[in-house]
Amino acid sequence: MNDWRDIAKTEIHLHLEGAAPPDFIRQLASEKKIDMTGVFDADGNYQWVDFVDFLKTYERACEVLKTPEDFKRLVEAVLAESASHGVVYTELFLAPDFCGGGDLIAWKEYLAAMSEGAVAAKNASGIEARFIATCVRHMGADQAKITSKVAAETASGLLTGWGMGGDEAFGNAADFSYAFEQAAESGLGITSHAGEVCGPDSVRETLDSLPVSRIGHGVRAIDDPELVRMIVEKNIVLEVNPGSNISLSLFKDLKLHPISALRDAGVKITVSTDDPPYFHTDMTAEYTNLHQELGWEISDFNAINQTAMQAAFCDEITRSKILKKFEGA
Ligand SMILES: [Zn+2]
Repeated sequence: MNDWRDIAKTEIHLHLEGAAPPDFIRQLASEKKIDMTGVFDADGNYQWVDFVDFLKTYERACEVLKTPEDFKRLVEAVLAESASHGVVYTELFLAPDFCGGGDLIAWKEYLAAMSEGAVAAKNASGIEARFIATCVRHMGADQAKITSKVAAETASGLLTGWGMGGDEAFGNAADFSYAFEQAAESGLGITSHAGEVCGPDSVRETLDSLPVSRIGHGVRAIDDPELVRMIVEKNIVLEVNPGSNISLSLFKDLKLHPISALRDAGVKITVSTDDPPYFHTDMTAEYTNLHQELGWEISDFNAINQTAMQAAFCDEITRSKILKKFEGA
């Protein structure tokens, strides 16, 4: 197959604001008369030179996102973009801290608006979406407790997961156990970023102290064979984002990326894009690169999509409906 755009795909690691199409941000900025000088390069893409600069650009772009209506439009735009790359099921990370600052009533308005955006997108393209509310690690454990409380109290409908992003080096995973237990008790599926910027110890610590069934990234586990065995034994699924890792120079290229070694060791892996327009990637590019550089074929992609759906934070009817798309071959 030469064109990987049209084949069905799933994605389970995608940050809503980080997936904002540049055109969408430019449009909203012009409506609100917000100056975006320096955010985009001559070709209209997000511009940044290193990780600190990436965060700066990300924050500047997010400045245009204020009201529930803005977020509704963003969900619609992001899901339309995903669907155009063949994505049939996706999970979006949302940050309640930036949608009402932890206030339950405000969050409910944002969540309702974003849910409307997801319904509109589903009506337009058929794409199924679920939301994962995330705390921001470097905002600390106390703020995470507040955030997980609003997530737990609104755990229904499309909000089906809880996770943690932000600076992996901040504090210890165990500091966040209260927030995670509170979310888990409400029935939300649980994941956390670890083993991206920080080494295998960050993954081990997360597995030891938080009730996760999935790890965001986790690729640095490859440096610790015993940890890799533990991930296999505990049946933990890794949300791997190869294009993101290469863009941030964690690994030089796909041949040096541990996705194959982890898979060969028996780890359950999946493929997502993280913050696609920032990392100059999309799901079509991920599949094309895996095919061209690692020789992955449709059977390999069906296998990772089955893994993603088995680990997806969704109801059983949706799970079996989507799984059917990845049977055979
Ligand atoms: Zn991420």
